[in-house]
Amino acid sequence: MLESKEFLRLILDTLPEHIVVINAEGDIKFVNRSWQTFGEQNNCACNEQWQQQNYLAICRSAACQNDEFGAKAFNGIKQVINHQCEEFYLEYPCHSDMEKRWFLMRAASLFYDNQRFIVISHLNITERKLAEQQVQQLARIDGLTQIANRRFFDSFILQEWSRCSRLNLPVSLAMIDLDNFKTLNDKFGHLVGDSCLKEVAKLLPEFTRRPGDLCARYGGEEFVLVLGNTQSKQAQSLVTRLIDMISKLQLAELTGHPLTVSIGLATIYPSSDSDAMLLIEMADCALYQAKEAGRNQLVVADNIEPLNLEKCP
Ligand code: GH3
Ligand code: MG
Ligand code: MG
Repeated sequence: MLESKEFLRLILDTLPEHIVVINAEGDIKFVNRSWQTFGEQNNCACNEQWQQQNYLAICRSAACQNDEFGAKAFNGIKQVINHQCEEFYLEYPCHSDMEKRWFLMRAASLFYDNQRFIVISHLNITERKLAEQQVQQLARIDGLTQIANRRFFDSFILQEWSRCSRLNLPVSLAMIDLDNFKTLNDKFGHLVGDSCLKEVAKLLPEFTRRPGDLCARYGGEEFVLVLGNTQSKQAQSLVTRLIDMISKLQLAELTGHPLTVSIGLATIYPSSDSDAMLLIEMADCALYQAKEAGRNQLVVADNIEPLNLEKCP
């Protein structure tokens, strides 16, 4: 029997998962080698004299220091102990100074010798998490210009709209459309057109540095700036500077002409009975007016009554 126990322990020691077994009170009764090695390499407090440590107390103390995963782990393990569920899974970050790491915790109950135990394993899932993050990143970036795409803009504007609505803050939105871009493409070819789009996109992040800001490619040759918590006057001075910078882009070797843009700008204090579409429509309407007025200019939609929007296309 002793021999077979030793054999099973050796098997557990070969597993990459960090395994810890606790009793129903949370006292640690067994750890495998991976658990111990990880603890040693990361100076984990619970690694020293693990036989005298209480796993639930460690989770609770992390929770008390506002570690949300400590709280989740504590509650999940408690549920397994209290028969509320058979097993519990939790993905959590555990970053070191040197690298980003994530683990999957699994807690499952076990009966042995008329006693109840919980087997808790921690599997390193960093590779999968990094791949997921990369896919998410790719799904929100426009391939040509490397700034946010329309899909990300759609979700961002809703999020910023509700944040500013809650805090009673203004949201400004600038719709930027390259002037006579079809002619430029026809004259110099699509590759030159693409380069111009990239050059314009490179300028935009400088105008959207705060967390409530975003620059995105809205469609073909249209870009958009979302400026959370930004009054119309501040937004106007930002986009006026942008118009100036675009006109100074060194595109002479590509087209021989300065590139110009028309911009429609709208600012709204969101309320619970309005939605972000109104802001987009107002900026779009102002853009239409900028085109009508001869292009290469900014029109501010401050004074456009929502009811007058129907005058826009
Ligand atoms: P306006 O000043 O009224 O905006 O005129 P415009 O020619 O810019 O507008 P229009 O909507 O007539 O044409 C937009 C052009 O943008 C047509 C399309 O070929 C070009 N375009 C859209 N997406 C891309 C792209 O990814 N690359 C290139 N090179 N051109 C694009
Ligand atoms: Mg357009
Ligand atoms: Mg255009």
